[in-house]
Amino acid sequence: MGLKKTISIVVPAYNEAGNIVLLFQKICRVFEGLPQYNFEVIYVNDGSNDSTCTVLHKLASSYKNIKFIDFSKNFGHQMAVKAGIDHAFGDAVISIDGDLQHPPELIKVLIEEWEKGYDVVYTLRTYCSEEPATKRWTSKLYYKVLKVVADVEIEEGSADFRLIDKKVADIFRKIEDTDPFLRGLIKWMGFSRKAIRYQADQRFSGSSTYNFKKMMQLAVSGITSFSTKPLHIAVYLGFFFAMASILYIPYVIWAFVSGTEISGWASLIMTVVFFGGLHLVILGVLGIYIGKIFKQTKHRPNYIIKEKNF
Ligand code: UDP
Ligand code: MG
Repeated sequence: MGLKKTISIVVPAYNEAGNIVLLFQKICRVFEGLPQYNFEVIYVNDGSNDSTCTVLHKLASSYKNIKFIDFSKNFGHQMAVKAGIDHAFGDAVISIDGDLQHPPELIKVLIEEWEKGYDVVYTLRTYCSEEPATKRWTSKLYYKVLKVVADVEIEEGSADFRLIDKKVADIFRKIEDTDPFLRGLIKWMGFSRKAIRYQADQRFSGSSTYNFKKMMQLAVSGITSFSTKPLHIAVYLGFFFAMASILYIPYVIWAFVSGTEISGWASLIMTVVFFGGLHLVILGVLGIYIGKIFKQTKHRPNYIIKEKNF
């Protein structure tokens, strides 16, 4: 009998104490049906302030295929997944959320598609009806905006639940990006890809830690990590309004000649306010990109590990 292939499963965990054991049990059940594979689960504790760390220590002491990485503080979901992949040396690496919203049963399907020769098997979630409508709409809107504004097209509903082949993971590990947006980055890397659709489950325990602020951060990072298109849009906008204001000159002259220029006050103020706003937007866009250059030049690591058991 040949050597068994190993599947590494990466789980980012931020305050997931109530979900860790159940997720592990579910993963074990999946692999009972896949005895031809070895598997390991790499939990990345992203600076949780509940008992996630203790639960992990306990679990790791009873099962030898549990690995954990403990961050020195909260570095965010994307960094946690990245750290997991950086430390995963299986023949395939699967990332899955720690809150059981990504059905572990799908792991079997991911592996089957991988065995057919796909290097990246990713999932697209269709929302369940209990999910708050606002979340569904914002997510829909986000992918639409991303498509128009950024150069990378990411399908609606794609999440960080995917399988990547070892060769993809090996290259991924070497890519330096201070602000990684994994969905985009892995899509950008190419390779043969296959999508799988599934229905998202409700969070099992705890609450979503993606508040509006974090979602906005992810959205902006998604756009500005992948294209300089917003800069072009800024230039077009500026050009368009400059042209429009030139067209305004004949009116100003006419108003002056006919002696009614005082009545132009309202439109004057409006233009000033409008252009003030436009300038701020454009400056903001420039600022975001400069900020990225600044971050990248500092060469800070993506995350800091306090402790790991391997
Ligand atoms: N997560 C993390 N660090 C964070 C926030 C979230 O590692 O700062 C993990 C979290 O434990 C979960 C996954 O990322 O496993 C997705 O988070 P969440 O369920 O809050 O996001 P949502 O499902 O609402 O997109
Ligand atoms: Mg979730």
